[in-house]
Order: sequence, then structure tokens, then C-alpha cells
Amino acid sequence: MFCTNCGNKLNTGDSFCTECGSKVSSSKSTNSGKTVKIIVTRKKRAMGCAIPFPVYIDGEKIGQLTNGISLEKEVTVGSHAVEFVCADGNIRQDVELTESHESVEVLCTARMGLIAARVSILEVIYK
Ligand SMILES: [Zn+2]
Repeated sequence: MFCTNCGNKLNTGDSFCTECGSKVSSSKSTNSGKTVKIIVTRKKRAMGCAIPFPVYIDGEKIGQLTNGISLEKEVTVGSHAVEFVCADGNIRQDVELTESHESVEVLCTARMGLIAARVSILEVIYK
């Protein structure tokens, strides 16, 4: 681990750089500013239900997901919550993104429930 300010080599556990005195940020909070894409895809089903349902990422609505389309959002590395809101309650899928990822795709499908769409997660694909 090196100081982000002056490049001095740091010892694990140091909270300040011994060379320039900058605060050492732990690797967990170090943010390179890299963004990663979360792609939410609803698989098209011939006999499936076509009712769109809203998708939220970290509590923010990214759109309505209808059959065979994808929604995407750029996020920073770290963990994010992808939520599908449907009649049976919310379905939540947590994704953990690191610097080595380019994107994550959450593949879901919906079938007809009693009142509206029932959503299920098929696969989470990290790239
Ligand atoms: Zn330093």
C-alpha cells in the first residue's frame, strides 16, 4: 500500500502517511472513480406476462422493465441493491462490484401472478 498523495510506502494499519501526513484511506473506501454498469434484462417469454414492473437501484428508480428489454445504470464499484417491485412484494438482488468488473447483468423473468407480474431472478452474470 502506498500513499495516494506522495507515493510513500505505508505500513498496514497506518492512518497517516509518515512522509507527508496525508490521511490514509482504507482500501475499502478508496475510490478510483471507476464506474461499472448494472444491466437489468428481462427475458422475453412467448407465453409470459407482459406487465411492466419498476426496477430500482439503490432506491432510485431506473425505469419500467417490459418484456425483452434491458435497463442499465452506471454505478461506482462496491455493493448495490437491485430491486424489482411487483405485486408479490419486492425482490432484491445484491450485486458486489469490484475494479475488475466491467458490468453485471441481472437476468430476470416474470410470469403471471394472481394480480400482476411475479418476478424471479434467473441469473447474475459478472463480466
Ligand atoms: Zn504521503
